Amino acid sequence: MFEKVLIANRGEIALRIQRACRELGIKTVAVHSEADREAKYVKLADESVCIGPAPSSQSYLNIPAVISAAEVTDAEAIHPGYGFLSENADFAERVEQSGFVFIGPRADTIRLMGDKVSAKDAMKKAGVPCVPGSDGALGDDPDEIMRMAKQIGYPVIIKAAGGGGGRGMRVVHTEAALISSVNMTKAEAQAAFGNPTVYMEKFLTQPRHIEIQVLADEHGNAVYLGERDCSMQRRHQKILEEAPAPGVDRTLIATIGERCAEACRTIGYRGAGTFEFLYENNEFYFIEMNTRVQVEHPVTELISGVDIVQTQLRVAAGEKLPFKQKDIKLHGHAIECRINAEDSHTFVPSPGRITGFHMPGGPGVRVDTHAYQNYMVPPHYDSMIGKLLTYGDTREQAIARMRIALSEMVVEGIKTNIPLHVELMNDAAFHQGGISIHYLENKLGIHSK
Ligand code: ADP
Repeated sequence: MFEKVLIANRGEIALRIQRACRELGIKTVAVHSEADREAKYVKLADESVCIGPAPSSQSYLNIPAVISAAEVTDAEAIHPGYGFLSENADFAERVEQSGFVFIGPRADTIRLMGDKVSAKDAMKKAGVPCVPGSDGALGDDPDEIMRMAKQIGYPVIIKAAGGGGGRGMRVVHTEAALISSVNMTKAEAQAAFGNPTVYMEKFLTQPRHIEIQVLADEHGNAVYLGERDCSMQRRHQKILEEAPAPGVDRTLIATIGERCAEACRTIGYRGAGTFEFLYENNEFYFIEMNTRVQVEHPVTELISGVDIVQTQLRVAAGEKLPFKQKDIKLHGHAIECRINAEDSHTFVPSPGRITGFHMPGGPGVRVDTHAYQNYMVPPHYDSMIGKLLTYGDTREQAIARMRIALSEMVVEGIKTNIPLHVELMNDAAFHQGGISIHYLENKLGIHSK
C-alpha cells in the first residue's frame, strides 16, 4: 500500500478521500487554493501545499502545480476526486510520466470514454445497450442526415462527441429544423470543446437516469455494485440520488450490471467507474461512462457495505479486488440529498459565512461535509457544501429517517436547498418512486407560476 497520497481536489470529497487514506494508514497531502487555505480538512491533512490563487484555472486545474506539489512532498500517488482534473487524460498521463500513480484508469481508457462517439462504439462492441442513433459521427451530407433522422424517428438529439456537463446538445423535433440544428451544434462544439464532431440519438421523452457502479482491478477482475437512480435533476444536475432504483426488475439490473462488468474486462478498465443509462419502458440505454468516483457513491456504499474510495486506493496500489461478484450482497435502501449553498427554488448560489451549523445523527444517518460553524463558503467553486444520507431496511424507512434528519439540520448565514429536500420528502410522486428526469423542473415550473 502507498505511504503517502496527494489529494488533488477540495471540499467534501477531499475530506472523504483523506478519511479513506487514514483508515488504511496512508499519509495525506492536501493541495489547496488561496481561498481554501483555512479549511479544516486542509489542516487535518498530514501536509498541505498551496497551489495557486482562488480561480480553479490557476489552482485545482493547474497540472504543473499539482505535480510539483507531489514532487516536493514525496507523495507516491495522486487521487483526483471528481470534477477538476479527474477525467483529464492528459493529466493522468503527466502524473504517470512523472513517476506517480494516478488513482483511476489508464490515460488511454479515459480518452476512449471521454469521447462519446468512441465510448458508445466501445460499449456497443462490448454488448452494452445504447440509445439508437447514428453509428458514429455525423458526416456532411444533408440528405444522409435527413434519411438517418427519419429512420430513427423524431424527436432526435444532436450531441457533441466532446460534450460534458449537460452542454453541447440540441433536441430536434422536425425535419425542417434538422440541418440548421446540426450545423449550430457543430459550431458550438468546435467553440466550446475544440472538436466539431457531433452524433445523433433518438430523444427519449420520459426517461429515468439509472447508473451502474463498477469496480475493476488490473488483474482482469470486475464487479458491479448494483445501480443508483439519479432522476431528480435540475439543469442536468443531480440533486437527490437513491439505491436501489424503485420498481426496476432485479434480473434486468443483473443482466445490465454483468454486461458493464464484462465491458470493464474487455476494455481493461481499472478502478471505480460508472456506466450512466437512460431507462425508459423497461429498457436501458447507455449514454456515457464516468471514469472516476462520483458524488453519489455513498448510497452504494450504504447498501453494499463496500468502501468504494478505499477500493480505489487498493486497486491503484496493484491489489486484487477483495471480493467476487457473488460476495456482493445489497441490503436495504439509501437516499442522498445534496446540500447546496443556493436558493432552494431559483438555484442562485449563496456563498458566504456559515454562522450556525448543526448536523443530524442517529440510526442510519451519514453526513459527508467539509463545512462547519464559521466556515466561509467560497464563491469560486461548486455550491455543494455536503451530502446528507440516510439508510433504512426499506425505502419508507430511509425516507422517514431523511425527514427527521432534514428537520434536525441547521445551516445559518447562507441560503441552502434544505427546504427543497424537505418538500421532496413529502412529494407524492417521489414517494411512489420512478419519476423521470424532467419531473423536478416540471414541478418547480408549476410552483413558480
Ligand atoms: P453530459 O456528459 O453533458 O452529462 P450526457 O450524455 O450524460 O451528457 O447527457 C446529459 C443529459 O442529457 C442526460 O442525463 C439526459 O437528461 C439528457 N440526454 C442525453 N441524451 C439523451 C437522449 N438520447 N434522450 C433524452 N435525453 C437525453
